[in-house]
Amino acid sequence: MAEHKQFRAIRGVRDILPPETALWNRVEEIAREVFARFNFQEIRLPIFEQTELFARSVGADTDIISKEMYTFADPPETYLEYIQKCLREMGHDGYRKFAEENPDRLRKEIEERGEVKLVSLRPEATASVVRAYIEHGMQVLPGPLKLYYMGPMFRRERPQKGRYRQFYQIGAEVLGRGVSFAADAEVIAMLMTFFEMCGLRDHTLYINSIGCNDQDCRPAYLARLRTELLKVKNKLGPDSQRRIETNPLRVFDSKLPEEQEIIDKLPHIAGQLCAACRLDYDGLKNVLSMRGIKFQENWRLVRGLDYYTQTTFEVTTPGAGAQNAICGGGRYDGLVELIGGPKFSEIKGVGFAIGEDRLIEAVKDSGKLEGIHPLEVYVAWFGNTSEKAQEVARLLRRSGFGVEIPVEEQKLKKSLSIASMKGAKYAVIIGEDEVASGKLTVKRLADGDQKKLSEPELVGYLKSDRRP
Ligand code: AMP
Repeated sequence: MAEHKQFRAIRGVRDILPPETALWNRVEEIAREVFARFNFQEIRLPIFEQTELFARSVGADTDIISKEMYTFADPPETYLEYIQKCLREMGHDGYRKFAEENPDRLRKEIEERGEVKLVSLRPEATASVVRAYIEHGMQVLPGPLKLYYMGPMFRRERPQKGRYRQFYQIGAEVLGRGVSFAADAEVIAMLMTFFEMCGLRDHTLYINSIGCNDQDCRPAYLARLRTELLKVKNKLGPDSQRRIETNPLRVFDSKLPEEQEIIDKLPHIAGQLCAACRLDYDGLKNVLSMRGIKFQENWRLVRGLDYYTQTTFEVTTPGAGAQNAICGGGRYDGLVELIGGPKFSEIKGVGFAIGEDRLIEAVKDSGKLEGIHPLEVYVAWFGNTSEKAQEVARLLRRSGFGVEIPVEEQKLKKSLSIASMKGAKYAVIIGEDEVASGKLTVKRLADGDQKKLSEPELVGYLKSDRRP
């Protein structure tokens, strides 16, 4: 006999079960409705891509790329075995330590050998959208191109509530030549409409600009920031100390209480933007105000990903718990060129990614939205009425109702109790009397109201009664 073993979902991933899945479906349905009204079209993307695509776009210095991706070799020799083999051939002793300390160098060296491709489960989808845009020559389409996607993303983060290793995002991107603050405002307006339709309240939109790559803009600011950070280096923790060199803006992400006072005194990028970025940022604030969209400026909002330029934004909600960011987004003017080369230097982009897992918690907390419960009618039949009951079930299903019918005869009392437990709104009662008289009994389970109706009357009644 097979050994008894109970399988459980892997750490950091989870099942999403009914009835909660109904709420997920409802939220996704609203996203599709709202995005279509803004003329966004869906793109379906692969779950895995070449590791290099993510490394290039998200940035090798980010936690996502250096620590959190699920990467494997293709053909599927096990990744670790392959790394060990490569490192032995490269002459590195202590391969595990080397691999941990130099993940990017290792990845490059392995890829240069050309024997295997490294592929990764996607940690986000913007890189894939841009890859698809270039691959299919979508820059020739009448622009700007407006796309949305939804689906799972994978990051090997430390699991906690609101932070999973497989989580779900709903995102949208605008790509084209004319993308500027007006496109940012449009995307933000769509996002806020969506949240409103999900019944969210108490959420806050934060915006910031992190400038561009012109020498007198972000690079000048970064040099100044580094100088200031070096002056206080000894007071910072190891993560922030490391980031002074690798990615100084990320120091702002620190949650360490002892670093907050130091960070508050650092120079703000808003005061250092070049003239063009200042104009762009002021333009965004004006358009948002004009459209009646409330926002708060947050100079520490830099976002972790390398490809952002100018506008960054985030939405937080108290309903999502400690992990309160439910959406992040921004402009990525250089990303298309970075992936596609100089030919694409004029193509800019802006987009956002909503964390669906966290959004659902916030939606539940607001209590304004309900998942659509599919079961409307329970057909309670008994006696020699099975054939009639099946016929009625067929009629109701054809008329668009969610129907359940027990496969075997049940006592009426049992049927009514199951119907209530399953959350049905109505029971249609079919006994031999009903068959003989041609009038079926319909019972509204919420208040017990009961009527006797012919089949056509029944359909009419259910249709009008379900929509008050
Ligand atoms: P990012 O792609 O990091 O900008 O994240 C966008 C949004 O995705 C965040 O605001 C979160 O709501 C959500 N998110 C990111 N990482 C996770 C995770 N590990 N688990 C759940 N949601 C996440």
